[in-house]
Amino acid sequence: MTINQSGWKPTSPEAKDGEVPATFTGNRALMLEEKLIFEIGDDKTTGVDFAEGDVAGSRLGDLSRKDPIGLPGLSEPETVRHYTRLSRQNYAIDLGLFPLGSCTMKHNPRLNEKMARLPGFSDVHPLAPVDTVQGALEVIHQLAHWLVTLTGMTSVAMSPKAGAHGELCGILAIKAALEKRGEGHRKVILVPESAHGTNPATAAFAGFSVEDIPATADGRVDTAALKARLGPDVAGVMITNPNTCGLFERDLKDISDAVHAAGGYVYCDGANFNAIVGRVRPGDLGVDAMHINLHKTFSTPHGGGGPGSGPVVFSEALTPFAPLPFVEKTGEGFRLVEEENADDHHADSFGRMVAFHGQMGMFTRALTYILSHGADGLRQVAEDAVLNANYVLRSLENTLDAPFAKSGPCMHEAIFSDEGLAEGFSTIDVAKALIDEGFHPMTMYFPLVVHGAMLVEPTETESKAALDQFIGALRSVAERAKAGDASLKTAPHFAPRARLDETLAARKPVLVWKDKAA
Ligand SMILES: *Cc1c(COP(=O)(O)O)cnc(C)c1O
Repeated sequence: MTINQSGWKPTSPEAKDGEVPATFTGNRALMLEEKLIFEIGDDKTTGVDFAEGDVAGSRLGDLSRKDPIGLPGLSEPETVRHYTRLSRQNYAIDLGLFPLGSCTMKHNPRLNEKMARLPGFSDVHPLAPVDTVQGALEVIHQLAHWLVTLTGMTSVAMSPKAGAHGELCGILAIKAALEKRGEGHRKVILVPESAHGTNPATAAFAGFSVEDIPATADGRVDTAALKARLGPDVAGVMITNPNTCGLFERDLKDISDAVHAAGGYVYCDGANFNAIVGRVRPGDLGVDAMHINLHKTFSTPHGGGGPGSGPVVFSEALTPFAPLPFVEKTGEGFRLVEEENADDHHADSFGRMVAFHGQMGMFTRALTYILSHGADGLRQVAEDAVLNANYVLRSLENTLDAPFAKSGPCMHEAIFSDEGLAEGFSTIDVAKALIDEGFHPMTMYFPLVVHGAMLVEPTETESKAALDQFIGALRSVAERAKAGDASLKTAPHFAPRARLDETLAARKPVLVWKDKAA
């Protein structure tokens, strides 16, 4: 059987010999087409059935609505089906391997969910009197203790809402420390070329100027170039370790010593902590602040780009400047330090990141994960994640160009480039064809230091069988791209939508539905 190459809807309903015919509905088996709710609902239908009221009249006066509200109505079953159909067009970690490099898309254990749903945790209110939520505060305190211990740092701010928010928190602490020292004139933050886009964005947002530090040919920070740039205008560096080329920055201690000697601070992007948890303590490498993405290392769910929780650990030097609130253990239980207080050791805190104390649901999940693994289990997480990534790297290095394969073993992720694909073929063609194979694509075109980068992070929970299936799919697609198989240029062929104009969608998103007929 040949495959109809035209995507979801065949161009002609009459299938040619051997082609797959169009369906009456546009659906393909369990892949259901779904229109916008505005196209299927109307103001005559509703999911609720109220009797006509005998209200005397509107009390809104001039403000009462004159035109129909224009919201589409559907019956309850229609509503449920609409959203369920849409939800089935999502890829999810519960469906299959999610190879997004740098994102650490790991399995979310069901035990985490069970614990987070205990009413004592799920129903707490941020304004509840402290003596009624001692158990919740103890969870925050215990998790904080684990995070500080695993990273070898002094303190942790639990309130930041995501990795990027944690970066801002760390940089604001660095800023406060410099100002306290009377060195607010240090305005430059050095960021390696391979950094995640959030790093320079954070530094710029906090009022610093950003300067790039080049990478060496083996994919690591150019230590000599970095040291040469240090000076009285440099506030600090932001370094990801392991880095986004999937390599351990072996010189980080040496770099930290040089940065400290020059009067600056070291921010470590800890998004890739999963590769070293239980094996390496960033505090031992001279790090002053580092965010931990609970959704990357500690198995809390991702969603919409990493919401929820990005605690930041601090060195002794930055601890006085950390944001409030803090949970502290007292003789009788736990208390919340909410305000700067001259008598307290939080007098120099730079302020707050958020209104309340952080994301209780994520704290409960992360602590559950940590306690169910224990210290030895966490170490094994890192070892297995690295083993799986190296299996992917070595299985595909003879099919795809692997620019750092000779730099030694990789850490948690394997990186490939588009070098060697047929003329006119690039990473996007490989990624789109992977969708037809039933996989979410890997991270593409990042980090920028690798041309046409394909960054694959399998995580530790994938079995060898699952890895072999993914490797087989990627190898098959890569071989087609090397042979110049033109059908790749229009892939995916089996997805509800094929090649969208992603640039237009990002730059000029249409966010409001307009009735074309009206
Ligand atoms: C994911 C990631 C971030 C940002 O984290 P969010 O939680 O998504 O805000 C920063 N740096 C690196 C290297 C990352 O992978």
